[in-house]
Formats: sequence, structure tokens, C-alpha cells
Amino acid sequence: MRLKTDYVVVGSGAGGTTVAKELAIRGKKVVIVERGVIPNQKKMGTLKTAILNYYDKCALRKSKEGLTIYRALMAGGTTVVSCGNAVRVLEEELKNLGIDLVEEFKETEKELAIAPLPPRLIGKGSRLIMDAANRLGFDMRPMPKSVDPNKCNSCGQCVLGCKKGAKWSALDFIKIARRHSAKFIKKIDIQSVVIRNGKAIGLVGKSPKGRVRIYAKKVILAAGGIGTPVILQRSGIKNAGKKLFADIFNVTYGILRNKHINLWQEPTMAVVSTKYMEDKGFIMSPYIDAPLVLRWVIMSKRKQLKGFKYNDLLGIMVKTRDESVGRVTANERFEKNPTIADYKRLNEGAKIAAKILIEAGVKKKDIIFTKPRAAHPGGTAAIGEVVDTNLETKIKNLYVCDASVLPVSPGAPPILTIIALAKRLAKAI
Ligand SMILES: Cc1cc2nc3c(=O)[nH]c(=O)nc-3n(C[C@H](O)[C@H](O)[C@H](O)COP(=O)(O)OP(=O)(O)OC[C@H]3O[C@@H](n4cnc5c(N)ncnc54)[C@H](O)[C@@H]3O)c2cc1C
Repeated sequence: MRLKTDYVVVGSGAGGTTVAKELAIRGKKVVIVERGVIPNQKKMGTLKTAILNYYDKCALRKSKEGLTIYRALMAGGTTVVSCGNAVRVLEEELKNLGIDLVEEFKETEKELAIAPLPPRLIGKGSRLIMDAANRLGFDMRPMPKSVDPNKCNSCGQCVLGCKKGAKWSALDFIKIARRHSAKFIKKIDIQSVVIRNGKAIGLVGKSPKGRVRIYAKKVILAAGGIGTPVILQRSGIKNAGKKLFADIFNVTYGILRNKHINLWQEPTMAVVSTKYMEDKGFIMSPYIDAPLVLRWVIMSKRKQLKGFKYNDLLGIMVKTRDESVGRVTANERFEKNPTIADYKRLNEGAKIAAKILIEAGVKKKDIIFTKPRAAHPGGTAAIGEVVDTNLETKIKNLYVCDASVLPVSPGAPPILTIIALAKRLAKAI
């Protein structure tokens, strides 16, 4: 296949769809190429569909050292399995680099109707955790969400995709971009950028039907914190892929025996404590893994858990700001392990999470700590390192617009900031 366009965008997640949609609305000729397929919304919300169809390597994708990092490879990217959390992150850090996103943040907050969930959607478990945290002075409050409360049915399956379409995902932006004549092509795995005389002029990729070549005046890579540095390295940008962060998290569980809290049937991460965001680098929020995943993360604790019921489980996620010391290689593998400082943050957060659970009524013997995992890979084409403040690489007309450009780990949900950066890029190009 051969194609010619003005703008080609690789990847249809948070960054890619935003820039594509904004350009399409401005009347530009845009092609979006995506490695995955468009999911069937009616089939969303089950672990089987999510694991088999969305998550990279069935959600078992690990670093060389064994750290699981989650990402989704599909139309809409990882936004499809997000929890709908929508907060401004890295605003100051980006300002210090000369990037002021105030207008773009405001625009996005309006467009996605970001607001905390109404009290009726803050379930029994979240409320129990929030009240306990607040009695201890940890200032937990409803999380700002890009969720339509009128459509949300509290199924609690946000990270498996939203069957009701209540949660914003980049699939919404693909629809808008297509309405404005953008072309969306699925099942194309982009391999590298075509460069002539120091300028990007297109892309080479693989599709089930064979080799694909797309020529464009401007090329925008938005294949995510792991996907983008692979394409960059294969295109000769050797310093891409370094400084991988991943917002490493752990979940501390507590069993409230025979209380039938059913945290799993509540909107995920409905409330949040950001008390330690600035000085200690972590946030805390109620969270529970799907049963099969749970069995895997607490495998070594089976004895301790004897006789426990899933319905009786409370969990608190501690999401941390990890050090940017990982690496993505050109063959799409990655190296990433929590550092000593990362472990310190994770352990400190887990201890506070345990305190909250005990305050909520859990017995000390029924507290379960789990090992670290991660969900927000980025930093691998950072501003000031691989791209400039206009998100352009040293190769003219080659831009990056996804979590890769974030300068440091936010330790908190990054979608809103990625969208704001993408809006800014669309205005500039
Ligand atoms: C379970 C989970 C819950 C989360 N919840 C939240 C939340 O509530 N709020 C929040 O702000 N963040 C959340 N995040 C993080 C957030 O989803 C990501 O940080 C964000 O989507 C990253 O945006 P992106 O544009 O960098 O990449 P992505 O959204 O991952 O998009 C990358 C796209 O590129 C495609 N791609 C990759 N390689 C290629 C290639 N070679 N060729 C073509 N296409 C390619 C992928 O298929 C994908 O569509 C969550 C993450 C996880 C895993």
C-alpha cells in the first residue's frame, strides 16, 4: 500500500487522536495509522476481552527485570482501559521548560466535562476508605473524572473498557477526526520514518497485506512511551528510549471479613489523596484488581488469605513518581526496575495505606502488601533531550506527541497533560 497525505499520525491514543482531531477540524488532510483494531464496545468490560484483545501480551508484559508495565495496543490506545481520572500534572515542570498549557488545560477540561463524580457514584468501599483517610488527616476527596455520571452504571470495570461509553476515551476523538475527513487505518505496525536530506517525508510499516509506505509533509509519532522510542531508534535517533519512567504503583489490600463491601462494583479510583504528591511523590486511591489478576498478584499470600471473599476486599493503590532510569530498546523490549528510592516511596505509601485500612476496620493480620507494577510508561523522547519545546525532533518535520515527551514521571494520571500538549502542537503546526 502507498499513500500520500499532509499529516500522518502514528498511534491513536491520548496524544495521537488529539493532534489528529485538532488538525482535521482545522481542515487539514490527516491520516491516522494504528497497530491495533477498533474494539467492539458491546463486548468491553470483561477480563477475557481486555486481556485477549487490548492489553499488550495479555497484561503480562514485563521488563527484563520482571516489572509488569501495562499498556493497551488498540484503537484508542491505553485511554480505553483508563480509569477516567483527569488531573493536571507536570504543569509547573512544563512551564519551567517554557511550555505554558493553561489555555489548553482549560479547553480540555471543558471539552471532556471534567468533574468529580457525584456523591451517588462514590460507593460504600470508596467512602469507607475516604472517611478513614480523612479521620487520619490524609485529605482524600473525589477524583476529577472524564466520566459522564448519567451513563456510568458503577460496574467497576473501568480498566477493562467501558461498555456504557460513560468514560471519555480516545475512541471519541477518532470519531470526531473521521467526521472531519481524517482517514483512520488500522492494523499497521509502523517500523520507521523515511528521511530524506535530514527531513522526515513519510513512514514505513507492516500490515497483514504487506508493506506500507505513507508519505506526508509532517510526521507525528504518538505510539506511546514504549512504541515511539522504538520507531525513533529504528529511524536513527539513538538517544531515544532512555530515561523510561512508568509511575510504579503497588496495591495494599485489607479484608473486612463478612462485610460485603463490594469495592469491585464501584467506579475505579473514585477518590484520591494527593497530600504527599509534592513532597513525597505519591498519590493514594481505592483500587481492586480483577479476581484473576488478584490471584496472580497475591499468589504468595494464599495462606494468609484463607477463607477470604472477593466481596470483602478493600484496596488502596499507591501510585508513585519513579526515577527515569529505565530503557526501551529498538527491538521493543525494556529494562525497568524500581530503584532504592522508588522502593522507599512505595513502602512509605503502602504503610500509610495500611494505616487507612486499619482505621477503616481491617485487622492488622488481614493486611496484604503486593509487589510493584506500573501503568504510565513515558519519558523516552523527553522534551529537552529528544524533542524541543515544539515537540520536534532533530529531524525536521518529525514530531512526537505522547507520554514519551514528558520530562519526568508525573506519579499521577497523565492523559489530561498529554491532550493539552497535543492541542498545543496542533496549533503550532
Ligand atoms: C489500566 C490503566 C489505567 C489508566 N488510567 C488512567 C487514568 O485514569 N487517567 C490517566 O490520565 N491515565 C491513565 N492511564 C495512563 C494513560 O492511559 C496513558 O498514560 C496514556 O494513554 C498514554 O497516552 P499515549 O498517547 O502516550 O499512548 P497510548 O494511549 O498508549 O497510545 C499509543 C497508541 O499507539 C499505538 N501503537 C503503538 N506502537 C505502534 C506502531 N508501531 N505502529 C502503529 N501504532 C502503534 C498503540 O496501539 C496505541 O493505540 C492508565 C493506564 C493503564 C494501563
